[in-house]
Amino acid sequence: MNIIVLGAGESGIGAALLAQKHGHAIFVSDFGTIKSNYKEELDQADISWEEGKHTEAKILAADCIIKSPGIPETASIIQKAKEKNIEIISEIEWGFRYVQDAKIIAITGSNGKTTTSNLVYKMIKDAGLSVCLAGNVGNSFARELLENPVDYYVLELSSFQLDGIVDFKPYVSVILNITPDHLDRYNNSLEQYASSKLNITKNQNEGDYLIYWGEDQWISDMLANLKVQCLVFSNEPHTGQGAFLTDDKMNFHFEDNSYSMNIDDVNLKGKHNLHNGMAAGIVGKLLNIRKESIRESFAQFSNVAHRLEEVLSIRGVRYINDSKATNVNAVWYALDSIVEPIVWIAGGIDKGNDYSELNAVVEGKVKSLICLGEHYESLVKAFTGMVPKIEIAKNMEQALNMAYDNAEHGEVVLLSPACASFDLYGNYEERGDDFKNKVRQL
Ligand code: ADP
Repeated sequence: MNIIVLGAGESGIGAALLAQKHGHAIFVSDFGTIKSNYKEELDQADISWEEGKHTEAKILAADCIIKSPGIPETASIIQKAKEKNIEIISEIEWGFRYVQDAKIIAITGSNGKTTTSNLVYKMIKDAGLSVCLAGNVGNSFARELLENPVDYYVLELSSFQLDGIVDFKPYVSVILNITPDHLDRYNNSLEQYASSKLNITKNQNEGDYLIYWGEDQWISDMLANLKVQCLVFSNEPHTGQGAFLTDDKMNFHFEDNSYSMNIDDVNLKGKHNLHNGMAAGIVGKLLNIRKESIRESFAQFSNVAHRLEEVLSIRGVRYINDSKATNVNAVWYALDSIVEPIVWIAGGIDKGNDYSELNAVVEGKVKSLICLGEHYESLVKAFTGMVPKIEIAKNMEQALNMAYDNAEHGEVVLLSPACASFDLYGNYEERGDDFKNKVRQL
């Protein structure tokens, strides 16, 4: 086949290398600049490429286009390819075509994908099985298939990756939650965004499993006529197979056995991480991993950086980096999980946030709000009158100096922005690293 890869990031390079190994003609085109390490890889593999342009004549002669998740459907080259009825797929779909006996555990949701994927990966690895973690985190799926064949692939999948699937069929799929995010790419329609997440289960059948949060309205509403076997996790008890929370326990219930884990025995802080833990625990059961092994993995798990990450305590004030909280729902769980009074640092590029959803966890708990970054007006408007003190900072250093002055012994300074970072930083990691460095300098 004549394969064109559009977008030469990690997924594009992986797809190209896999395509070449299977004997396809392949050309890689990126409208931006390609990282030098990727160019070297392409050259070494003798794969031709271009950057800074899309040569239409070449691209529109493709039998199949593998599109990077970063390229929107509205891009003109995609529109033209569609007009010519060229098949356009994601790298995940492409990789799936070369999976033989391995089992796929695919994880999606608006929040919690990376945390849950890491937890599931650790649990499977600790159980002594051959496993790798790929997709939206770490290496691309295609690259792992090529370089590191294993029995279990844990894939973190974004809605953009799920948009381009045709036959992709995981053995176990997980949908953690669906809340507004990235709606700019879905015509501002939560329904369109939700339906792309639900693509994860569209090819699953009686021999496969779907795990989802039973109390998420969007998921429940959109699941109908499924053949797949469903398992549910929830806050409130339920009688189906899956898991639920009681005061101090995660309770697992399956046809052949039931057991519970003390929340204090597992290293999962905050209700959101208990959701992630319940989902992971159900995966463990479906893979026949012993509950003792699962419990041990959960106890040893350390949260991924930039997600409610404890940085330091200075004069009795805890500093927490939650830079990855780039939407309102993630912030809700951060604020909910902290019992102390909070000095909250938020702001950046607002993707159309509705802050009123936070009122219940802000009121009476957030003693001061420090707005950092471009879109501060909407934060100021939303919380004036509710938060006693609101200040505006130009940069992280200023924000942390304000926080240091405001926070008293026994309180918490939390960076949980609810916004993207592109106004001041290249990405959320840079923002989180800057926070941590400046905290250490206080
Ligand atoms: P994702 O990969 O989906 O962005 P992460 O695991 O990186 O998810 O977490 C992103 C943010 O969401 C962090 O602020 C984290 O504390 C929060 N979070 C993690 N799990 C959940 C969940 N199940 N529900 C809501 N928020 C969550």
